[in-house]
Amino acid sequence: MKNDICGFEHLHLHTDFSLLDGFGMVEEYALRATQINQQFLCVSDHGMMGVIPRQIRTCEEHGINHIFACELYLNDHQPTVKNPDEYSDYTKDLNEAEKFLLKKSYHLLAIAYSETGYKNLVQLSSWGYKSGYGGVPRRPRVTHDQLRKHKEGIIFTSCCYLSEIGQAFHNGGKEAAYEMLSTYHSMFGENYFLEVMLLDFKCQKPYDAFLIEAHAKLHIPLILTNDCHYCMKDDSKFQRNMLMIRTKNTVQDIEAAMENNEDMDRFFELQDQNLWQKSEEELNEKWNKDYSDIIPYDLFCQAKKNTVEICRKAKGVELDRGIKLPKLDDANDKLMDNIIKGMRWRGVSGQKYVSRIKKEYELIRRKDFASYFLITQMMTDEARRVCPSIIGWGTGEEAIGPGRGSAVGFLTCYCLGITDVDPIKHGLLSERFLSDARGGRQMKLRFHSLPEGVEDE
Ligand SMILES: [Zn+2]
Ligand SMILES: [Zn+2]
Repeated sequence: MKNDICGFEHLHLHTDFSLLDGFGMVEEYALRATQINQQFLCVSDHGMMGVIPRQIRTCEEHGINHIFACELYLNDHQPTVKNPDEYSDYTKDLNEAEKFLLKKSYHLLAIAYSETGYKNLVQLSSWGYKSGYGGVPRRPRVTHDQLRKHKEGIIFTSCCYLSEIGQAFHNGGKEAAYEMLSTYHSMFGENYFLEVMLLDFKCQKPYDAFLIEAHAKLHIPLILTNDCHYCMKDDSKFQRNMLMIRTKNTVQDIEAAMENNEDMDRFFELQDQNLWQKSEEELNEKWNKDYSDIIPYDLFCQAKKNTVEICRKAKGVELDRGIKLPKLDDANDKLMDNIIKGMRWRGVSGQKYVSRIKKEYELIRRKDFASYFLITQMMTDEARRVCPSIIGWGTGEEAIGPGRGSAVGFLTCYCLGITDVDPIKHGLLSERFLSDARGGRQMKLRFHSLPEGVEDE
């Protein structure tokens, strides 16, 4: 058995953020990555990138590098109506072939290798939700046009059998697949890779054979992935059950349909119990057992090494994680005005109040937090204003409550109506909330919207 360890990293991996299509959680994947000697954790959820904050935190905890990716959905045929109620009206004049095309959500693996790439990937995913989300199935789908606009900084791959190339191969054979491949290759150039997988899914092997042939002809580099949907081998049964929920099927229905060779899209993960986060040794074993006749050993090793190369190129994309707040014009003066008005409104005066408010105001100026206080005041004012009409009762004071956490010790918050507790009367310290040494822009607000008598948890 050939079993060289030449380095391998997973570039195609779904977490539970791939709604009902990924069983593994990013925390388990990160832990296993360290156990199988991987230095990187690349997550490529379907259509969305919501896992990223958790991915960054988890990778930091485990001392590995995060790589940002997304398995985009793609279809140039976008329904012009987005409301599902209008959809049947919209499709009634279409023929079967047109309806079939409209339903397709082709897969495309996209890996960001720079900050620009990350921003472009966010643009693509957001565009999918805002403009490409409609009809059946309801998935965030991008178009080739959008890809051309936002391809910079991103590595793309031929992805799985449900890609446009895989489906061209399925429906039109090699010739159709080559044609599709050349479209992608010319669109992405050196940032394009062919992706082979060692799966049991019965269409995969002939497709891999095609990809190896295409590599020889077109010299597009290869990568190896395992399209991970769960962390451990034994998790495959949970993935299967989850898939039944998503597709509203029973296992028996699906098995019967598979026997009759029905629509392939639905059965990919059922025909395969290989989609765990395999170690390089486990992939070597699979190659020896099932794929050595299709993929030459040197190409197999090269495809593994290329995944490490991509990770090295894509690592170190850092996000600006600071709080994004607009800076208001003349914020310091406006805040002073509001504080004076607030002191009158609250009916507070005297030396104790004036010297405390002066101290707090100077601190806010030094920390450049005036805009933050004004914005928070706008939010609480607005909550009070709209609360009675939304919940149908009360004066609006119920919307906010008396305040939470250390912010109730800050007299400015009381004067601005952000909290409802007089800190001087109750002997509360302002320094617990904000001082030169501590405190950020993190006031805790809690907006009530429950009907009277119903308790929040
Ligand atoms: Zn896929
Ligand atoms: Zn996938």
